[in-house]
Amino acid sequence: MTGDGRERTELIWRLRQIVGEDNVSLDEPLSEHTTFEIGGPADAYVVPETSDEVRDVVAACREAEVPFFVLGNGSDLLVSDDGYRGVIIGLADGFTNVSIEGTEITCQAGVSLREASEMACELGLTGLEFACGIPGTIGGACFMNAGAYDGCIADVLKCVRVLRPDGTQETIGVDDLALGYRASRIRDEGLVVLTATFALRKGDPDAIRARMDDLTHKRESKQPLDKPSAGSTFKRPEGYFAGKLIMDAGLQGYQVGGAAVSKKHAGFVVNLGGATAADVHAVIEHVQDEVERQFGVRLEPEVRFLP
Ligand SMILES: Cc1cc2nc3c(=O)[nH]c(=O)nc-3n(C[C@H](O)[C@H](O)[C@H](O)COP(=O)(O)OP(=O)(O)OC[C@H]3O[C@@H](n4cnc5c(N)ncnc54)[C@H](O)[C@@H]3O)c2cc1C
Repeated sequence: MTGDGRERTELIWRLRQIVGEDNVSLDEPLSEHTTFEIGGPADAYVVPETSDEVRDVVAACREAEVPFFVLGNGSDLLVSDDGYRGVIIGLADGFTNVSIEGTEITCQAGVSLREASEMACELGLTGLEFACGIPGTIGGACFMNAGAYDGCIADVLKCVRVLRPDGTQETIGVDDLALGYRASRIRDEGLVVLTATFALRKGDPDAIRARMDDLTHKRESKQPLDKPSAGSTFKRPEGYFAGKLIMDAGLQGYQVGGAAVSKKHAGFVVNLGGATAADVHAVIEHVQDEVERQFGVRLEPEVRFLP
């Protein structure tokens, strides 16, 4: 962490005051908080449970001029082998309340998409079926406008409650969020999602369950879900499919250290065991260079890098 020893001790003391002693860990391995199972230690890992705690943790970090990063389920992240010099605000562990009003579900940002879609199904509410196999949190999903099988967050989101960089809070309607393909104002303006409200519709529980089962089956048959990864490594380039380009370039199975292009789905880089972030970066760069050399298309990573 930047700053001298006294400043560091003061910030940690302050964080413990805000979230409680048990909810601050030092030198926390981020490999335990990412689906890639890769990443060195964070100086501090903090688990808030309320919106006020999130606000106060962010304010304490800003005041101490210590970098912070909001982490969901780490399912779209490649964290450096050196870890993170600053404070990780982990939302998936404790910021997980849900409230239901009629056909609307409001989730704190750390609720998993899977849990939200499962809950909607049990309530006979349709709209979130597409999300049943996406292993992220509500916050990460809004940040990316996550989507699958012809559905995306923008289709069902009503509004989000966000923390702005100046410490104020605002409720923003879906039409003002500029949600696009893996894009949003949340990302561009450094907003922290506190809660998200989804407007769903009444549906037939059996039909909802059948759709979810069908999508789960499709995913299991096509994706390397038995190996740690961060999902699709690259964004879909205009007019192409990343996986097809990588396959046609003869790169399936290409391996550096413990990281490789999946033999099951060329769009995924997987951790075969003991992969480092450096291994994954080497695979990504080789794939980008080779696909560009053969087809003139530069693939852009969908996975985000920290730092
Ligand atoms: C097997 C597998 C399959 C996948 N399939 C899909 C798919 O079909 N469709 C799809 O879109 N994605 C897919 N993904 C990628 C990933 O699950 C999604 O992008 C998901 O939305 C990321 O959420 P997360 O909570 O894990 O975010 P993280 O990886 O923790 O974070 C991603 C970004 O979101 C930001 N963020 C997280 N929470 C908040 C918050 N509360 N406020 C502001 N910013 C926040 C983080 O700072 C970071 O920049 C898949 C991943 C895996 C491993």
